[in-house]
Amino acid sequence: MPRLNARKPNRRNALRWGLVLLALLTGTAFAFWPRLQGTPAQALAAGQELLAKKTVLAVVAHPDDLEWYIGGTLRELANRGADVQVVVATDGEKGPNRVKSPDLAATRRAEQAAAGTINGYTRIHSLGLPDRGAAADPRFLPDVTRIYGEVKPDAVFVFDPAYPALPYLHVDHQGSAREFLKFWDRLPAGRPPVYLFQTRRPGVAVDISTVIDTKAKALAQHVSQNGGGSSGMTRFFAADGGRVGVAYAELFRVLR
Ligand SMILES: [Zn+2]
Repeated sequence: MPRLNARKPNRRNALRWGLVLLALLTGTAFAFWPRLQGTPAQALAAGQELLAKKTVLAVVAHPDDLEWYIGGTLRELANRGADVQVVVATDGEKGPNRVKSPDLAATRRAEQAAAGTINGYTRIHSLGLPDRGAAADPRFLPDVTRIYGEVKPDAVFVFDPAYPALPYLHVDHQGSAREFLKFWDRLPAGRPPVYLFQTRRPGVAVDISTVIDTKAKALAQHVSQNGGGSSGMTRFFAADGGRVGVAYAELFRVLR
């Protein structure tokens, strides 16, 4: 009997710690799980508002970032006559080189140009900064702010630095967004909204169902990175479409 009594507190402790662990794991999973903010109808209405923009500027780190994450939205904007300007900070030279190109930077730029033609970009500003060092490069923000001043966008697109959708993170994805937002935070009233993509707190949904094939074709131009495929992209954005009741969607968190 004494031995049994001595064990009981241990069992209770084990149970207590088990519950604490379960709560922590559940809480963590909940915090990192993508969650739509508001209703699907509200998100789609906010997407329509986004598609009414006339001049947009998207800032990304690598060739193929645009086409993977927001290619459908950019194509929809171009279809409505918007001036779609994009900044690609690096030539992605640390990424895969599936074609064994001797001049990977030149190959990547040509692929980005081909993708841009399919997706209707007005202009591609390639900064040629070092891959995995672009956001920290002292030239990054001055270059981007100069282009911003020339373009005068009424909406900007960057990665979501605060609530990135897992699992893929890259120092120049979230870093470039953080740098841009330092600049944007200091702008006076009347500044354009910033649409953050690869987010796990989306409140804006753009229905890209009618342009999904064009998006896939644009993405497939990045042969040196993806071998000419679209590597599961359509499945990924079908899942996002499912969150708002359409076939395919791209989702954003908006800062105003
Ligand atoms: Zn990238």
